[in-house]
Amino acid sequence: LSKVPILFLVGSGRSGTTLLSRLLDGEAGLLAVGETRYLGEARRWTESCGCGRPHAECPLWGPLIADWSEPGRLAAWQAAAIAGQADQLAAWIAPRKPLPALRGGLPVLRDVYERLASRGDVVVDESKTPWLGYLLAEQPWADVRFVELVRDPRDVVTSWQQAKSYLDYTPREVAAQHWLRTCVTAEMIRKRTGNPWLRLPFAELANDPSTALTRVLRRAPEGLQHTEGSWSFDARSNHIYLSNPDKLRRGVETIRPTATRPAAILEQQGRWERLALRYWDRWLVSRTYVTKRWPV
Ligand SMILES: [Zn+2]
Repeated sequence: LSKVPILFLVGSGRSGTTLLSRLLDGEAGLLAVGETRYLGEARRWTESCGCGRPHAECPLWGPLIADWSEPGRLAAWQAAAIAGQADQLAAWIAPRKPLPALRGGLPVLRDVYERLASRGDVVVDESKTPWLGYLLAEQPWADVRFVELVRDPRDVVTSWQQAKSYLDYTPREVAAQHWLRTCVTAEMIRKRTGNPWLRLPFAELANDPSTALTRVLRRAPEGLQHTEGSWSFDARSNHIYLSNPDKLRRGVETIRPTATRPAAILEQQGRWERLALRYWDRWLVSRTYVTKRWPV
């Protein structure tokens, strides 16, 4: 049997993963599924699927959510997809010997992803959290490739200040800590797994999406148009789970370019923000393009 092909998107929130998901969903052979890691919490979210229906009534997600009524299934899924810290550490130290709770969740994990891939598409998972990507990469039934989007933490922190409808305002320090944790964990996992890894700067996706998509797809994208100096795509119905409300927009959508910003004033920043900036300035900014075993 062939493995389940998964393109796992990694990145801090506000790093362009939703845009990348929507663009990839418009390409033949790819199915963007959004933030699968939250599948066990369907009742917690009032947002609809990318197709406009409540997640529980969507033809893709509805049957999977209905199966949570099966005894033990939901707990098993959560034990794998959102494992506790001890389970994550144990899986990191000895990937072949997961702790019992995590081991019990692996068949459900497999079943969910096999069903998402049952139409023969590459599953584009936007869960973003490096942990789930790492767990999937360790499974013999999954063929996982990682695409990591990185963005200047100043822009990420600023973006978090503009609250979107589904999220409350996120304090700068919380956003900076989340950014740093995601970047550092992603780096650890990239070094650990033997799976193909492609790291791209958000700026390329926003300013030159054709080049960014060509790197990901290893062919020219079909769904992008370039007119009068700007890039656009035809936003259609999709089955993106949770994610950003942008997924519900329809019709021709112009991709907004991003500008480089002047350096922020350090004195106004908290501890995490300064740390995040230091990590960006001294390490990540000169490593925004990374390919590992990525076929060209
Ligand atoms: Zn749907």
